[in-house]
Amino acid sequence: MRWTERQRAMLREMNIPPFWPEEAREAGAPAAAIAAPMAASADTAAPPAIAAPASSFVSVSEALPAALTPPSTDGHAKPATEAPPVTARPSAGMPQSARPNAGAGATPAATAQQAQLGPRPEGIERMDWPALREAVAGCQACGLCQSRKQSVFGVGNPQAEWMIIGEAPGEQEDRQGEPFVGRAGQLLDRMLQAIGRTREAAPPAEQVFIANVLKCRPPANRNPLPQEVAQCEPYLLRQIELVGPKVIVAMGRFAVQSLLKSSEPIGKLRGRVHEVGGVPLIVTYHPAYLLRSPADKGLAWDDLCLAREVWEKAGPRH
Ligand code: URA
Repeated sequence: MRWTERQRAMLREMNIPPFWPEEAREAGAPAAAIAAPMAASADTAAPPAIAAPASSFVSVSEALPAALTPPSTDGHAKPATEAPPVTARPSAGMPQSARPNAGAGATPAATAQQAQLGPRPEGIERMDWPALREAVAGCQACGLCQSRKQSVFGVGNPQAEWMIIGEAPGEQEDRQGEPFVGRAGQLLDRMLQAIGRTREAAPPAEQVFIANVLKCRPPANRNPLPQEVAQCEPYLLRQIELVGPKVIVAMGRFAVQSLLKSSEPIGKLRGRVHEVGGVPLIVTYHPAYLLRSPADKGLAWDDLCLAREVWEKAGPRH
């Protein structure tokens, strides 16, 4: 891992030991140190705990699709600086964009699927959590409903102060009904742990709500199609409204570009504060991209620190 001096200084200041296995190995840290929970020392390491009703903790769910703007063209997990155009190429357990060499154009099969759009439930923008969850679970607004095992609604505290938004369920997420449970998800959990956040039961200020742009797995983990993103968008926007987070972290190209309605690469969008529906949004790389480009973890760390600064400055919620 090639941390910059600034990043190293931050980690030292926060009394954070190597938090991603690769760094720990490079630093020669004992395995125990890798597994050790983050020290909540400096002001940045541990946010103030707030009352934490474990009962409000949402675990899994299901979901589904609807209509919007196409996020440019390649895998979201791959920064545009090195990301080839989007494709419909199959591969193992993670979204295509998260895989090396993601790229190419939509296949005939994918193109055919674009035509398979169905009606979306009405009044999504007024739904409460149970209605939204039910709508997503039964959604047949695009062809993904035919290939999914189940939809993946989201996980975490529905009142979380942080919201993490990724691309789409992969194979394991489709099977388990929970977002980010594969290798990328494990890295995401470690990233969250490093900033004192978790998807598990915890005080609300420490919890996140994790959702995807698409609620259903694209077959063979191909990239989301513009029509699928568009069909699914109202669900995500309603989730954002219902959670009312103090900060959103958008991970990877599809999440970033669809939320910001931008075709700019991640490299150009990160490092500053954007906004979606009045909520500050921070752009960062997808964990799956970081798995294959670990040198950029330092940049992701900067992004998480920026998100944390934004969260700290945010006033109380109404
Ligand atoms: N990648 C995502 O963007 N979301 C998931 O749920 C899993 C992998």
